[in-house]
Amino acid sequence: MSSDSDESFSELREAVRSLCSTFSAEYWRRLDEERAYPEEFVRALTRAGWLSALIPEEYGGSGLGITEASVILEEVNRSGGNSGACHAQMYIMGTLLRHGSPEQKQRYLPAIASGALRLQSFAVTEPTTGSDTTRLKTTAVRRGDRYVVNGQKVWTSRVQHSDLMLLLARTTPITEIKKKSHGLSVFLVDLRTTGSKSVTLRPIRNMPNHETNELFIDNLEVPAENLIGEEGRGFSYILDGMNAERILIAAECVGDGRWFLKKASAYARERVVFDRPIGQNQGVQFPIARAYVNVEAADLMRFKAASLFDRGASCGAQANMSKLLAADASWEAANVCLQTHGGFGFAHEYDVERKFRETRLYQIAPISTNLILAYIAEHVLGLPRSY
Ligand SMILES: Cc1cc2nc3c(=O)[nH]c(=O)nc-3n(C[C@H](O)[C@H](O)[C@H](O)COP(=O)(O)OP(=O)(O)OC[C@H]3O[C@@H](n4cnc5c(N)ncnc54)[C@H](O)[C@@H]3O)c2cc1C
Repeated sequence: MSSDSDESFSELREAVRSLCSTFSAEYWRRLDEERAYPEEFVRALTRAGWLSALIPEEYGGSGLGITEASVILEEVNRSGGNSGACHAQMYIMGTLLRHGSPEQKQRYLPAIASGALRLQSFAVTEPTTGSDTTRLKTTAVRRGDRYVVNGQKVWTSRVQHSDLMLLLARTTPITEIKKKSHGLSVFLVDLRTTGSKSVTLRPIRNMPNHETNELFIDNLEVPAENLIGEEGRGFSYILDGMNAERILIAAECVGDGRWFLKKASAYARERVVFDRPIGQNQGVQFPIARAYVNVEAADLMRFKAASLFDRGASCGAQANMSKLLAADASWEAANVCLQTHGGFGFAHEYDVERKFRETRLYQIAPISTNLILAYIAEHVLGLPRSY
């Protein structure tokens, strides 16, 4: 199957497009205005089975690869929607699938696949340590058959619309570890049973319409059976899932880029100023053409990374490069689209400024552009670590 062209996976694309077409631009615009969560859309995507694409068939999912999963999210963003409301279910689930015990998988995966449970939330980032994840300070201390968690997280997204949350916490004090990536553990927290006293939320109003929060964790008790894999190895488990995350976000950016370029080209053809379509001017059409070239190039790297991932080959460099190229390309396309629309680009009803805010996020989250460049410099080019 050809995997590097826009026409690939046409049946899958058509099916996702058809679902997305029932959620109009007005739907997304209204949610943006109300700062509301796309509950109806996420339900429909779950019911259709698209969010469980990566769950193996034996657990009720469709057992597809990251390539197909990336096409699903690309189509959501390309239709004018925003996968950020639910994409994490796809990549968080990988940690449970790869490192969870048979009991944990049996208990949670079929319920996640059917939509009975949502695993949408991933609590890693902390306010005082940011990108320096291995220094995180939230602690989980074993007391008999449970761990007691204390600390603070920030930017924990979708927690208000999730039943389960994956949490990274320190189980060995930083002074007692030999390697800085040791001593962190991953827990599956059942948010339905945590009391409101042990986890306090403070929603963060932010640039896109993204449900994200600060979490204050105070003596949260997590049953020891909810530890995923071995104690102290959590950071490596999380890293395992990051390549999937990078590839999926890259595909969303490709989808955004294609939405912006379609919108920019249509407007440039239709808008007449000085008795000619503005798109007849090279100053208008060349930036659109250049942005198109960059989105197409980023898409190639996204499919290359996805194909390596699906073959089980090492893909850290390609996954990171695809995220960087696609985030840059979608951001360029967003700027070009806004510029092409002149003043109307700023009007809410054109949706350009909304998508512009949404795609800007991917220069920073889930990993900032600088940190990707640092990875490539150090791990691919053999340059000295810069930080
Ligand atoms: C809307 C939103 C949703 C998010 N959702 C989640 C979520 O669900 N779960 C979660 O855990 N996190 C989430 N995040 C957090 C996100 O992953 C972090 O914002 C991101 O990793 C960057 O960390 P930081 O914000 O602390 O920036 P910092 O680490 O403080 O970095 C600030 C700036 O300095 C640069 N910088 C830092 N160190 C270096 C260096 N050594 N060399 C060069 N440049 C450097 C960075 O590139 C960045 O531009 C979300 C963030 C946002 C904005």
